[in-house]
Amino acid sequence: MQSTTPPVALTIAGSDSGGGAGIQADLKTFHAHHVHGLSVIAAITSQNTRGVTAVHPVPLGHIRSQIDAVFDDFPIVAVKTGMLGNAKTVRLVARELRKRKPAWLVVDPVMISTSGSRLLDEDAVEAMVNELIPLADVLTPNIPEAEALLGYSLRTARQLTDAAEALLALGAGSVLLKGGHARGGEVVDRYVDERGAMEIRHARLPREGHGTGCTLASAIAAELALGHTPRAAVRRAAAYVHRTLKNGYRPGGGAVHVLRH
Ligand code: PLP
Repeated sequence: MQSTTPPVALTIAGSDSGGGAGIQADLKTFHAHHVHGLSVIAAITSQNTRGVTAVHPVPLGHIRSQIDAVFDDFPIVAVKTGMLGNAKTVRLVARELRKRKPAWLVVDPVMISTSGSRLLDEDAVEAMVNELIPLADVLTPNIPEAEALLGYSLRTARQLTDAAEALLALGAGSVLLKGGHARGGEVVDRYVDERGAMEIRHARLPREGHGTGCTLASAIAAELALGHTPRAAVRRAAAYVHRTLKNGYRPGGGAVHVLRH
């Protein structure tokens, strides 16, 4: 029996030693979508289900050599960026992506972990806004990340709807503003592109997830690599995260649930 070669997607992100978020979540997500996953590790966290105890940024030269290694050999269709750590890494990744021009780019502007550790230096937000976000086909901030990118706080439903539009004006092709950090029994994610806006609503699951943001962004990248439009990819990826969190489990001593891919 002849088997077909799956499409190829790349994650440029941080390693989570606990296997719940970051590169590890991204590769599990690519695999579950029957996409061949590549990884460029931009930072290494020491982490478990209780939190992050250390962060080590990978030297720029070695991030570059990983990028060269994967782009020089594989037909990469979609790229997802996650934890990048600092401004120099954000600038390097943006420069390389401008040069390599993958068909699709999903930017998850990872800043702070659920457990409260900084995963992006404060002075890197400007580089993210000026250099990386304008290259993105899909930008996937949560509410605190949207507040950091826009420079003001978001409280009401109206402000959140307007914020999705304001983020689109930063130059991304589309924006998915994730509503998980807002209160209420329903989670409302707001998506907007040049064709207009849509909302994705889910009943809030009574559990804290770990790696949900990473998984959502890499599922969007996988769906794009499989040929879906950004709008369809976002819908399908949101359903995937909801399903895998519903089936999630607690692998360690902490309260967080890891997704069952
Ligand atoms: N660790 C790494 C390496 C990540 O990339 C991320 C998130 O994007 C996290 C931790 C945080 O995940 P969570 O907020 O779900 O704990």
